[in-house]
Amino acid sequence: MPMTKDDIKKIKQLLKTPKQIVIVPHKNPDGDAIGSTLGLYHYLLKHNHKASVIAPNDYPDFLKWMPEESKILKYDSQKEQSDNLINTADIVFTLDFNALNRTGDMEDALSKSEAIKIMIDHHQQPDAYATYMYSDVNMSSTCEMVYNFIDMLGDKDLIDSDISSCLYAGIMTDTGSFRFPSTTSNTHRIAGDLIDRGANHSEIHNQIFDTNSYERMQLLGCALTNLKVLPEYRTAYITLSQEELNQFNFRKGDTEGFVNYALSLNNIIFAAIFIEDSQNNIIKISLRSKGHFSVNEFSRAHFGGGGHTNAAGGKSDLNLKSTIENFISILPSYKIALNNE
Ligand code: 5GP
Ligand code: MN
Repeated sequence: MPMTKDDIKKIKQLLKTPKQIVIVPHKNPDGDAIGSTLGLYHYLLKHNHKASVIAPNDYPDFLKWMPEESKILKYDSQKEQSDNLINTADIVFTLDFNALNRTGDMEDALSKSEAIKIMIDHHQQPDAYATYMYSDVNMSSTCEMVYNFIDMLGDKDLIDSDISSCLYAGIMTDTGSFRFPSTTSNTHRIAGDLIDRGANHSEIHNQIFDTNSYERMQLLGCALTNLKVLPEYRTAYITLSQEELNQFNFRKGDTEGFVNYALSLNNIIFAAIFIEDSQNNIIKISLRSKGHFSVNEFSRAHFGGGGHTNAAGGKSDLNLKSTIENFISILPSYKIALNNE
């Protein structure tokens, strides 16, 4: 649902005078979450607001080149300072997620906050917690929406190279480098405009994709060795145990994109990766699909998660072996859907 003219008018009025603003991405933020929150942050500073980005927790090193990234507070390690900012905020922007529980331990503080809440997000089935909702599941990324949001406020000319770099990074990562079906000609036009305004596309790509550690590559080798194919369900999946993660000195973000190797197999339209997380006693699951098979629905039905039609996440409280057995036992009920694609 795009924003109404009336909403834009009200938000414009609201932002006319300096406000205390908090901007929040989802837990385990990705390129789109960090790019959109920082992009919006830079924009709000130009209007003399007092803005802060508070992430629920840390994020991968390959996102730590973004302008002013070091100003982002982490709720899990800076709780007191973060709670003070949330409690005194006039406005809270929630970006790149559709339900407050996606912020983990921040949920409580956010739901108690009396600030005006503005959601900008492209995930399916958004909760109705926000005062103003800019929610559009057809958008490639929240970064594309932040660009539109600034444009709707009549401020496109305020988009400088810092804002452009952040927004370009999020569009690039959430579209799988402009390859997913959610990428439209408009996405490309916006990306082009961001390059004109100072985003260095080649350098951004390099920072995100060509900064791998040797250990990450070895972990990828391990993941590919563990890859299993279930041709009758056109499904492939990868497992990584905590022991394997430890062996290759796992760091946050190291498994980003691994699931796509499973999906890249010929004739495979459904892919999953199951990653053991001993600290939280869960198996974190990433699901991907091609075409109409909805991993959002699949995750909601079986793994307490959600996301988009072709990319979703979830978790399991069983151990790794039982989680896989459970996953395989669910597949027969989707056999027709998976083979009709
Ligand atoms: P990823 O598999 O890359 O972690 O996430 C894929 C998509 O699903 C992202 O848009 C992400 O925000 C969403 N997602 C990941 N994990 C969860 C989850 O546990 N619950 C919900 N609702 N969405 C998730
Ligand atoms: Mn996103």
